[in-house]
Amino acid sequence: MIETLKSVVHNFNAGPSILPKEVFQEASNAILDFNNTGLSILEIGHRTSLFDQVIEEAVHLSKELMKLDNDHEVLFLHGGASTQFFQVPMNLLSENEMAAYTDTGIWASKAIKEAKLFGHVEIVCSGKESGYTFLPKDFSVAPTAKYLHITSNNTIHGTQWKDLSFFNDYQVPLVADMSSDILSREVDFNKFDLIYAGAQKNIGAAGVNMVVVTKKILGKVDRALPTMMDYRNHIAERSLLNTPPVFAIYVCMLTLRWLKKQGGIPAIQEINDQKAKLFYEILDSLPLFKGAAAKEDRSKMNAVFVMKDPAQEKEFLDLCKQEGMIGIKGHRSVGGFRVSMYNALQIESVKAITDLMKDFAVRKG
Ligand code: PMP
Repeated sequence: MIETLKSVVHNFNAGPSILPKEVFQEASNAILDFNNTGLSILEIGHRTSLFDQVIEEAVHLSKELMKLDNDHEVLFLHGGASTQFFQVPMNLLSENEMAAYTDTGIWASKAIKEAKLFGHVEIVCSGKESGYTFLPKDFSVAPTAKYLHITSNNTIHGTQWKDLSFFNDYQVPLVADMSSDILSREVDFNKFDLIYAGAQKNIGAAGVNMVVVTKKILGKVDRALPTMMDYRNHIAERSLLNTPPVFAIYVCMLTLRWLKKQGGIPAIQEINDQKAKLFYEILDSLPLFKGAAAKEDRSKMNAVFVMKDPAQEKEFLDLCKQEGMIGIKGHRSVGGFRVSMYNALQIESVKAITDLMKDFAVRKG
């Protein structure tokens, strides 16, 4: 819920998406005068002690919030999560080796496409045939797999793995794309060998990725890596191998500070649970609407739904627009609606959209 000069706007965008109001305020101040230096955050050098403090704090807060052990390094890199789709196999998979991938959505399938450029890929489960509306859970992974890649939350289809701990049963290194649910719920992050996430949902501003990686899985492929693609170089240079996205990292640091102030991941998880419960309860109570994902796999970050009568969708969308509900149109590949409820979205916004859904249902009799 953001109060603008005109009205109240509820931002359900899937990413870039809502960030805490305090973060917008502090980031705006820093554009004009960063920490009373008389300089804008946009004009400070990335090798100054001023920025060093920013990136150090961002890394420190990430480690603290995720309770990472000393084997896990936190990096802030360029290129969006899509760059990680190929940087991961480039660093972890030799040409004659095999990696296991779960095909649970459009983003997962894009990761698979890129991995195939570097080695063998075994798709261990796929929800493609059913339009990715559920998560296939009964599968095996060959012990020869160099790693198992999962997508913890499927942003487009609105599905989310509830239990991430069972992936460790396969006893191969674990890699996760957590772009759309990182920092939203308690996870044993140390059980993963590599985690990546575009920042533009729960971490901060677009333009930077968070990568969490263990050193022990690196340096084992037999190809030469371009300097900027080799995670080891970024670890050695503390994400300052070249000019980093200074402002985006600053916004991440502010958002991480905000999250800590809320009580960290356990506290935000509780609020996220309440928001999702409220939304899905109302959704299920209104026969006009229909959830798109299997109930047991429903995402607490992205609720995807359609109308039983598709002819009414435009009218509802227009009403949402009129009432200041932003970003609820479903992804162009699946249609319908998507209500994204990331960390910074307040429960009042969920109340507002569900009230509107109820009103619309009454009107339609
Ligand atoms: N993975 C997931 C789960 C996503 O939701 C997205 C983007 N929304 C991506 C990857 C791609 O991210 P980017 O646009 O930062 O490359």
